Amino acid sequence: MIVAKFGGTSVADAASVRRVIEIIRLRRKDRPVVVVSALAKVTDALLKLAQSAESDDAVDQAISALVQRHEQIAAELPGAGQPLRQIHAEADELRRELLATRTRAVTAADLDAIAARGELWSSRLVAAALAGAGLESVWVDIRPIMVTDGRFTRATPYIQVLNKRARDCLRPLADSGKIPVTQGFIGATATGVPTTLGRGGSDFTAALLGAALDAERVEIWTDVDGLMTADPRIVSTARSLKAASYEEAAELATFGAKILHPATALPLVRAGIPIVILNSKHPEGTGTTVGPEAVLERVGDSPIRSISWKQGITVINIRAPRMLGAYGFLRTLFEVFERYETVVDVLASGEVSVSLTIEDRSRLDSLVRELAELGEVWVEERRAIVAVVGIGLRTTPGLAARVFNAVWPANVEVISQGASSINMTFVVREEDGPDVVRRLHREFFGSD
Ligand code: ADP
Ligand code: ASP
Ligand code: MG
Repeated sequence: MIVAKFGGTSVADAASVRRVIEIIRLRRKDRPVVVVSALAKVTDALLKLAQSAESDDAVDQAISALVQRHEQIAAELPGAGQPLRQIHAEADELRRELLATRTRAVTAADLDAIAARGELWSSRLVAAALAGAGLESVWVDIRPIMVTDGRFTRATPYIQVLNKRARDCLRPLADSGKIPVTQGFIGATATGVPTTLGRGGSDFTAALLGAALDAERVEIWTDVDGLMTADPRIVSTARSLKAASYEEAAELATFGAKILHPATALPLVRAGIPIVILNSKHPEGTGTTVGPEAVLERVGDSPIRSISWKQGITVINIRAPRMLGAYGFLRTLFEVFERYETVVDVLASGEVSVSLTIEDRSRLDSLVRELAELGEVWVEERRAIVAVVGIGLRTTPGLAARVFNAVWPANVEVISQGASSINMTFVVREEDGPDVVRRLHREFFGSD
């Protein structure tokens, strides 16, 4: 059994869905469970609609445009028109919900219920298109399987419930030769209230299902030839990696490589199930295999494997002379972050000062107010984290000098190297991010 996940660009239009059908046809003997994201840009459009107070006409127009994209695909693929009635009914429901949120503040629960439409619609279309192409598909609603807590927009699944329900529901279907088609990204609480796993969460869904079903592999189909030495949108000469370890992929994803959701590797580590990242526009390529083994093969002669960056970062600095020689200070500090449920990405600590980075600014004011009780606090905004990742970092002396030489003259702020020493991260000004990545890429991978 395999899990095959198709991202938004892989189901963007009829031509893409046709490619998806052929990819699945070739994998029938592998008993695929298919996970799909919303059509490209649909989640963005739905969330924008939910958050902006547009006029009734504008809401109608935006919903019609979204529905039309699905109709267009249905019109071009035999059999794919079957779910249109359902999609129209749900679009009416969505319209009512959006109008209802006008009279009150939009909640995170609203956002999840609204965003979920994207995956529900795309999966119905793909299931119908597969059936129309002679492949026996079954549309499966993931919500009663992906039972989560109620932390809307970043819900956590209950793994044991998920494992049992995924096995009970999906395995018999796949074993009987049917192709289950289900949604990434979305779930529901035990009482059936819709939730989502966070942006880009379909990769995580695929991995969770892969682990639950003890799949042979999890295929992530996207719009580039696997994991690359940098984001090809920033570095035109970026090269594909044949392989990477879970650890490397997780570091890259955590620090901005959008190609994988940062949690994707987590459920697969225990069973050692590989993730294969492939390009649906170039399906004959071999992509990147991400697995448990440390990958020793180098890209050219580079000691590093890839460079990623993430913008929208805030740096919080705390200077507290009482830290000197005291114990328990960091615990007190982190309790503040725990209380405000704010994740810290990078940390650098000196004798009397600590610098750390956060992405979620929603509780920044409260955080700063409480941290000010521990010492002098100052905040730097519009920063980016750059991460240099690769197992070669462990064994290559003088690498830091090479990195910082290449980065110069950009100003480097918080520097950190994890204990696993497969990554080196630092902070720069947001506007310097792309150039820093390009300069590092030139230094470590050359320009061709
Ligand atoms: P999908 O809709 O298939 O989930 P995403 O847009 O979420 O696709 O992720 C794919 C994109 O990730 C690529 O188009 C690429 O621009 C970006 N990306 C960022 N870093 C990397 C990297 N190191 N290797 C490959 N792609 C990357
Ligand atoms: N459609 C969702 C998003 O855009 C989930 C995903 O693409 O993985 O975030
Ligand atoms: Mg994605």
